[in-house]
Amino acid sequence: MNAPVKTLDLSFGIWPSTDSLVSLVGLTRAQLRSALVRHGLVEEQKARMRAEQLWRWIYHYGVTEFDAMTNVSRDLRRQLETRFTLARPEIIERRVSEDGARKYLIRMGAGIEVETVFIPAVAKSGALCVSSQVGCTLNCTFCHTGTQPLVRNLTAAEIVSQVMIVRDDLGEWPTSNENRQITNIVYMGMGEPLYNLDHVSDSIDVISDHEGIGVGRRRITVSSAGVAPKIPQLGARTKAMLAISLHATRDSLRDELVPLNRKYPIAKLMDAIRAYPGLSNSKRVTFEYVMLKGINDSLAEARDLVKLLRDIPSKINLIPFNPWPGSAYQCSDWDQIEAFAEVVNRAGYASPIRTPRGRDILAACGQLKSESRKIRASARHALKHAAEAAVQDGG
Ligand code: SAH
Repeated sequence: MNAPVKTLDLSFGIWPSTDSLVSLVGLTRAQLRSALVRHGLVEEQKARMRAEQLWRWIYHYGVTEFDAMTNVSRDLRRQLETRFTLARPEIIERRVSEDGARKYLIRMGAGIEVETVFIPAVAKSGALCVSSQVGCTLNCTFCHTGTQPLVRNLTAAEIVSQVMIVRDDLGEWPTSNENRQITNIVYMGMGEPLYNLDHVSDSIDVISDHEGIGVGRRRITVSSAGVAPKIPQLGARTKAMLAISLHATRDSLRDELVPLNRKYPIAKLMDAIRAYPGLSNSKRVTFEYVMLKGINDSLAEARDLVKLLRDIPSKINLIPFNPWPGSAYQCSDWDQIEAFAEVVNRAGYASPIRTPRGRDILAACGQLKSESRKIRASARHALKHAAEAAVQDGG
């Protein structure tokens, strides 16, 4: 007898890769409820209670198997197992820096790999830096990720699973409010989060939920190169903290460093930032400024920077440039960074120099890059046809 024809969808690579099982990780509470109802596992009236029960197992206890859910009947556990999964994507590589930073290479599906970096405690807070896209479209000239073409957006499940995996590795289950290692989440890994706002927003709903991972919205920062029209939307939908990769104070230079500036020049960007909901002295925008030797590090530029931000509640983060293989820039001299910081400090911004972490394992800002390649649509179709033909021929 012929084996049934199986279609291999090579265009996808979305985690989880088992095509018949849907991941429950990364669904918002509402999505979780409707998934249970849609699959006929609970009646509408009982969906809320069931979803709450599952939510706690998934995000408070971090379980990876339905069998661990001891207050769910055996019968329902079996049914859940046949339709859903709680499995994590695979860690391909894990490297620990001399300074304790950890970089994870995570495979979401065939050819879809992203990096996630954990930066352990500075004072009392440890930050997890997550990726929102595989590759990037922005081509900022000083950024390593910019040399990798966009492969695709990550789903909310794939963003949330980065947090779950690192929590597994750090032994941070069940969720506790005491002695947490991951206190903050920053969307500063690969990709431009505002080009993937739906999934970023859903992932923040999940991560910030108090009955789960519980990293509050004030401790979640989304960094953008400046997709102006999406900036107020980000605030309205997520209430997260905003960071902007500024890097230059005049358009001619910013056009070169951050090509997106040609579309949304500085004045437009600043207007969008002023429209970010809820800004105040206790909710400030972080401006990131990479220190490039002889390019943007003069004291005149430091003064321009302070002037530019005068009417916006802001913090400034000076990032010493992190070199990567083939990069065309050098990091500013330390004396120059300090002199620049001094101008910024005098204007009332506290200690703005960010110490590079994880440089030795290429885990620092702007050094992330995976080997994922986009397969052209035409090549994908050809592969798909070849795979289908092979299955039919061989059957
Ligand atoms: N696309 C978003 C998210 C990436 S965040 C954004 O641009 O904000 C990564 C941060 O690291 C950004 O501020 C980026 O400008 C900065 N960065 C990129 N390459 C760098 C490098 N080589 N050295 C230091 N910082 C870098």
